[in-house]
Amino acid sequence: MGDGHADPRRRVPRTDALLAAPRLAAAVRILGRDRVRAAVRQAQDRVRRGELDPEQATEAALAGLPPAAPRAVLNATGVLLHTNLGRAALSDGAVAALVAAAGHTDVELDLDSGRRARRGRDALAALAAAVPHAEAVHVVNNGAAALVLAATALAVDAEIVVSRGELVEIGDGFRLPDLLTSTGARLREVGTTNRSTLADYADAVGPRTGFVLKVHPSNFQVTGFTSAVPVRSLAGLGVPLVVDIGSGLLAPDPLLPAEPDAASTLRAGASLVTASGDKLLGGPQAGLLLGAAGLVDRLRRHPLARALRVDKLTLAALAATLGGAGTPTRDALHTDPAVLRARTERLRDALAADGRKVEVVPAVAVVGGGGAPGVELDSWALSLPERYARPLRTGEPPVLGRVSQGRLLLDLRCVPDEADAAVRAAVLAVAVDD
Ligand SMILES: *Cc1c(COP(=O)(O)O)cnc(C)c1O
Repeated sequence: MGDGHADPRRRVPRTDALLAAPRLAAAVRILGRDRVRAAVRQAQDRVRRGELDPEQATEAALAGLPPAAPRAVLNATGVLLHTNLGRAALSDGAVAALVAAAGHTDVELDLDSGRRARRGRDALAALAAAVPHAEAVHVVNNGAAALVLAATALAVDAEIVVSRGELVEIGDGFRLPDLLTSTGARLREVGTTNRSTLADYADAVGPRTGFVLKVHPSNFQVTGFTSAVPVRSLAGLGVPLVVDIGSGLLAPDPLLPAEPDAASTLRAGASLVTASGDKLLGGPQAGLLLGAAGLVDRLRRHPLARALRVDKLTLAALAATLGGAGTPTRDALHTDPAVLRARTERLRDALAADGRKVEVVPAVAVVGGGGAPGVELDSWALSLPERYARPLRTGEPPVLGRVSQGRLLLDLRCVPDEADAAVRAAVLAVAVDD
């Protein structure tokens, strides 16, 4: 580097020139000028010390910025609702609604009269329209909150009658009986793990009963010598019947014949249905309550309801999900395996053209996230050596696959079509060492 003209130390890019680079300018708007300038200074110092070429300064400054958190990832696991990956991905309409609602909104104001209006009325109206059989609806923070509110408001100093076969653990140590008793309600357990009969319930129901609870075992199946009492029979016991359907399916889906839906459950006689918003409904995290007007009103007016209320972003995303054409969850569930295979083969061919040989293999996708246990969806995957798992997971964007029998399987079912190029680039970015 004897030539002074080529000495990188003399060619340190100017601060204002670096800050004007589009990606750094965008970072200034998000992180503020001071933090970006600090990263720029560090990059300039490295150029000055001869560690970097001047042309690398922008990339180095970008790399020195704090990463976005949480990070967006590509879900190539073949698990539609992966709890660790945030369950449902929102529809474009819901995303647009979130952005619109980020500023000041009319969430609790009637613009026409200028008076206060019912909070979240658009989301509530959309939910009521989606399930006409529900006399009234309410929305809280999640499925667990819906149950807590029901237990607190409807079983004060009273018993919840529930089958021993339905005292389930949802995941990560979250156990339904613990949640229910934390409200002060008492559980009156009936039947056994594998069998409960209508007589078991009838014997337990009495003056101390707050309500009968039926819970959909959404993440396991009991097979063999089993019996459970259908909603229609439990509805005749003369006390309120609360049914936790779990997944938030509002109407039956032919692909998921064993998955209960809100409309059918209400039609069968449930007084109140509880469900999650971010499972099969494909919306934001929320707890849906649908049912008899008198019960929903008691929940809505209970003091605890204020602590469980959803924010304007959730209400906006929920309204858009319910009023929209479809969701990524629904699309992923209903993807034709032949279409998925052709898409996966196109990606394989593109990788082969870049000198990276990978195979396309049959795979099995699942709903996951506490829904449709036992349902296996025919799928296809790119099969890579297992050693790709870590670099893909820690790359940008992170690509999450499923490791099976020493192979890393990338199932595109839950990957947006337009992200195939990003998957291809991510695979190519992994060094080949054999
Ligand atoms: C998922 C689930 C819950 C909990 O719902 P969250 O929205 O995760 O709080 C409760 N009951 C059943 C049956 C579920 O599947």
